[in-house]
Formats: sequence, C-alpha cells, structure tokens
Amino acid sequence: MIGVVKVGGAEGNRLEPLLAELASRTVDGERWVLVHGASGIMDRFCGERGVPVRMITSPTGYRSRFVGETERAVFEEAAMAYGALIKQGLDGFCAQSEQLHPARLGTVLAKRKDILRESVNGRIRVLRGNYSGTVSSVDSSAVTKKINEGVIPIMPPLGLDRESGLAINIDGDRLAAAAAGSIRADVMIILSNVPGLMKNINEPSSLIKSGSLANWETLEYYAQGNMKRKVVACREALEARVPRVCLADGREENPIANALRGNATCLVR
Ligand code: ADP
Repeated sequence: MIGVVKVGGAEGNRLEPLLAELASRTVDGERWVLVHGASGIMDRFCGERGVPVRMITSPTGYRSRFVGETERAVFEEAAMAYGALIKQGLDGFCAQSEQLHPARLGTVLAKRKDILRESVNGRIRVLRGNYSGTVSSVDSSAVTKKINEGVIPIMPPLGLDRESGLAINIDGDRLAAAAAGSIRADVMIILSNVPGLMKNINEPSSLIKSGSLANWETLEYYAQGNMKRKVVACREALEARVPRVCLADGREENPIANALRGNATCLVR
C-alpha cells in the first residue's frame, strides 16, 4: 500500500496518534508520505514577531493568506519548524523520516501568484507582491526513492519558485493531491479537526460518507470556508488517477485505520 496523508497545521489537529500509526504501518511494509500544514505555527511566529496576519477572501470565496516578502520568510521558517517537530515525533516512535525542503532538493515546484484579488464589501481590490502560489510539479522519483527505503518523507507546504529561487507557500491539501498523483498512491487521506465533509458542521451524524466525480456538485455545495479547498484537492487527486481519497478526522486514535474503515468522507472517481 502506498498512501499520502495530510495533517493540518491548525490548532486542534493531533499529531501523536497519526505519527504512532504511521510508524507502525511503515514497519509493516506500507509506504506513506506525510504532508503537513503550518497555519497555527505561522500565526504564532507572526504574533511573536509583530508581523500582522493578512487573510483575504477572493471574489470566488476562497480564503488565503497574503504573503509579502517578510511573511514568506517567516512562513518558510514556520513550516520547517513544524516539520522538525513532526520528525522528532516520528524519531520517538523509531520511524525513519526526512524533511523534504523544496528549495534544497527541488522536489516540489510552484508557480507564484504575484497578484491576489480581494473582495471587500462587493468591490475588488488588487494586491501585488504576493509570495504564495500553486504546486506545479512533484518529483516522483525523489519521493518514491525515499518510501522504498522505508523512510517517511515529510513534505512542508512549500514549493520552489524557479524565477525567484525562493521557497513559497503553497496549499498543503493540494500538494498532497499532487504528490499522491505523482507517486501513484493507492489512497490520499486529508485529516482535519472534523469527521469529514458534513451537511451540517454542527451535526457529526450528517457526515457524507461517500461520493464520486458524478455527484461532485453536491459535495461542493456543502463545503464552506476551509473545506472548499480540501474538496478541490480531492477532485485533483481523483483526476490524477488516485483511486480513493478520504476527508477524515485527525483527532481519532488511529486516524488512518479509521478513515480506511470508511468512518470518513471517502470519494472515488
Ligand atoms: P486544517 O487546518 O486541518 O487543514 P481547516 O480548519 O482548514 O483544517 O478546515 C477544516 C474546517 O472546515 C472545519 O473546522 C470546519 O470549520 C470547516 N468546514 C466548512 N464546511 C464544512 C463542512 N461542510 N464539513 C466539515 N467542515 C467544514
């Protein structure tokens, strides 16, 4: 089994249970890649350094962080610090892992989005000088080599922008989808602080347990806020021929087993 699991960077995501499960699955011969977010630690670093957090909502309703030059450097540091914490956790479970830094290894390339559009009270404002972007490619051979050696690659939400030579902020969920597609994973699991995609976010029993590309509008209809991008990532993974993708609960004791058991939103082509 080859899998890609993404763990969020926001407060409320638990690391320990996931790392314990990944360690034991790797010992059993499964091959896993761990992609992580960095939002919580980024907010903390910004707070400590007096760097204001600028969140914007695009005209199509996607929320993202405006990343100027200062924020970019802080983000890179925050992402690598969070990955180091993950590595420490895996070391504690005697699992071999390695942080993949895109700028040093060129494993992940990104396309920078210099200009962001923001919708403020129905008017569109243009913001320049942004240093975040979208993933354009993942080097499958580098990642595959690591997993075949029994190493868990830890991938930060960073991609190398060839033009500037800088590591820029990319969305971790969509990076997980690109990574899963490129290494031909059997499954991609996106963990967060909810049981999966729900019809009513205050009602865990309204969890949508299955879906496919054929009824995608229904899934998009229910996804609000940060869930919107996760649903986009799921679609990208399915379109990249990953046979199974799950939006699952990262607060569970064995979050991967829980997702694979179907106690999650499990989507197929
Ligand atoms: P992470 O940081 O772990 O990637 P996010 O906080 O970005 O996770 O995304 C998960 C959030 O998406 C939930 O906490 C929830 O508030 C929000 N959300 C919006 N719509 C839904 C929905 N239909 N079902 C589940 N969660 C939803």
